[in-house]
Amino acid sequence: MNPIKFLEPTDLPEAIALLSQHADDAKLLAGGTSVVLMLQQRLIAPSVLISLGRIPSYDYMRLEEDGLHIGALSRIRDLERSEMIRKFSPALAHTFHVVANVRVRNQATLGGNLSAADYAADPPAMLTALDAHLRVQGPAGMREIPLRDFFLGFYVTVLEPEEILTEVIIPSLPSSARAAYHKYTSISAEGRPCVAVGAVADFQPDGTCADLRVAIGAAVETPQRLKAVEAMATGQVLSDELIAAIAEAYAKGLDPLADVRGTAWYRREMIRVFVKRALQEVRDGAR
Ligand SMILES: Cc1cc2nc3c(=O)[nH]c(=O)nc-3n(C[C@H](O)[C@H](O)[C@H](O)COP(=O)(O)OP(=O)(O)OC[C@H]3O[C@@H](n4cnc5c(N)ncnc54)[C@H](O)[C@@H]3O)c2cc1C
Repeated sequence: MNPIKFLEPTDLPEAIALLSQHADDAKLLAGGTSVVLMLQQRLIAPSVLISLGRIPSYDYMRLEEDGLHIGALSRIRDLERSEMIRKFSPALAHTFHVVANVRVRNQATLGGNLSAADYAADPPAMLTALDAHLRVQGPAGMREIPLRDFFLGFYVTVLEPEEILTEVIIPSLPSSARAAYHKYTSISAEGRPCVAVGAVADFQPDGTCADLRVAIGAAVETPQRLKAVEAMATGQVLSDELIAAIAEAYAKGLDPLADVRGTAWYRREMIRVFVKRALQEVRDGAR
């Protein structure tokens, strides 16, 4: 096996230049929790590793007028513990809290989690329901990508080989809105979700639902929202009957995948259960 060249750029332009220079031979390394496993299992064999570890300027959280800005190199553990995120969206802080275990969260970055495009992940479903968008930097400059357009399939995103994800932006929710994240894990020896549900609902002063967004992850290749089903809630009170109908429509409307965490039939059943729980939580404000 040829030795891997380890490069440590100290700023983003240098990292992008190195990526462009080494093209298909290079792999970016952030926290390394996914890359190192892939190297050990010989699923990848890059000749160059470009570490982002010496570019600290992309490790931040900022509240701006348009919402919460999170640098892609922020560690999931820091996001989980952030008072700013807990105030901004308790459901988002909870999502970070239930990623893997504390050892992984101490190392893993949000940018790495999204860029890996592993379907069995937590943040993608919640961030899709929150309508997050991403900032990406490449040789041609910066571009913004709605998260809903970011994932193309299993482990594949729209990122070009020489692009780096730099920032995740989550629009502020109105004070009349509530969000919830529910994760179902079917294998106790690991923390990865079998089904992930992110839900956000905004309510009118009379208690009817103004807007509902429900994103399913982990049970499907990429996070999925069913807009026609979400629209069933518009102008309605989220009664137990309506919640059951929406949960049923999600279970029937998606085409779940099958893997070690569950069959397609089982996942369909769990989608029904966990959409219901997430919607009850956004209605009742439990979290
Ligand atoms: C034991 C274990 C349990 C886990 N359980 C869960 C779980 O329950 N829920 C969950 O959501 N996840 C889980 N994960 C996955 C974990 O969250 C991810 O491995 C982690 O978030 C990846 O982040 P990283 O910084 O370590 O990325 P790395 O491993 O460094 O990189 C991952 C991928 O993204 C690319 N990359 C990294 N940063 C960028 C960037 N800024 N721009 C472009 N590309 C980039 C890399 O080239 C690589 O392809 C688990 C992982 C392990 C090892």
